[in-house]
Amino acid sequence: MTRQAALRERLATLGYDLLVVQSLPNVRYLTGFTGSSGLLVVRPQDAVLVTDYRYAAQAPREVGNAARVEIDQVSVWDRLKRVVQERPSGIGAFEAHIATVRDRERLEGFGLPRWEATGDLVERLRTIKDPDEVDAIRSAATLASEALAETLPGVRPGETEFAIAARLEAALRRRGSEWHPFPTIVASGLRAALPHARTSGRAVERGEWLLLDFGAQVDGYCADLTRTVVVGARADERQRQVYDTVRQAQRRALDHMLPGMSGREADQLARELIAQRGFGEAFGHSLGHGLGLEVHEAPRLSATAEAALPAGAVVTVEPGIYLPGWGGVRLEDDVHLGAAGPELLSDNAVELLELM
Ligand code: ZN
Ligand code: ZN
Repeated sequence: MTRQAALRERLATLGYDLLVVQSLPNVRYLTGFTGSSGLLVVRPQDAVLVTDYRYAAQAPREVGNAARVEIDQVSVWDRLKRVVQERPSGIGAFEAHIATVRDRERLEGFGLPRWEATGDLVERLRTIKDPDEVDAIRSAATLASEALAETLPGVRPGETEFAIAARLEAALRRRGSEWHPFPTIVASGLRAALPHARTSGRAVERGEWLLLDFGAQVDGYCADLTRTVVVGARADERQRQVYDTVRQAQRRALDHMLPGMSGREADQLARELIAQRGFGEAFGHSLGHGLGLEVHEAPRLSATAEAALPAGAVVTVEPGIYLPGWGGVRLEDDVHLGAAGPELLSDNAVELLELM
């Protein structure tokens, strides 16, 4: 079934006569349109994409038969109103997690009898990847690993996090990453204990951790990797112990995750092992998240995620241990949850690296 057909089936079940799609990743998923401004109406009979003059040439080319394209020079919302008024009856739905209060007021003026807020209708379809989507994520992950392999051998004590991030980002772009899907994290020494550190001007010192969390994007699809290495020295015993714990926790999740399992059960696979080794308090975030057109999407792998992981989802597996005043280790790989079990899309090159 095509993506729009699956959505229409869902809209019919819910009793909606049209859906206004404002999320740009959702618009892209349903039509192929990659522009930065566009509103899509999906109805039982048709789909109409409203965008502005900047995309007059690009939109019809990208969208093809997936939707009728309307270009408006003045106001996409006024044009959207005219499109909605072509069939001014029934229940309209809008994306509650995207629409602003202002958008909602505009919709109320469109003359439909009723509007209802919907949740993540399109996002839920997006969780199950088709083979092309999996291929794009695999390409992005491969490119990311290659860029890292190019960057790491040059790291020396004294190099700043900014400088390392700059070399990594250049390598990603040179290899064809369309964009950095999130700000590259390079965190050294004690800063590796910050699970979401911001890259800084600090220079990495001999014997310290260097944590790199970075992404790549191919055909709009994101990869998300984290590696943690020791710079300029052999790892000490404590570093080895913490690193091995994180690596084994990741291994346990990768070996035993299955579609149908809840996000919480998957999270527990890694969390139990970390807790058994006495680091339970030091793994304060969830195990992973879905990957696709957005770097954080459904499903979640966390202590509160009761929903079953669908076959066909692509998720990250990223356990970590963070010890304030000491440093931290996180390892992150990307996995396709095939019907037969997890299939790694990234290289999972997680042998402890000591950059001498
Ligand atoms: Zn990451
Ligand atoms: Zn991640």
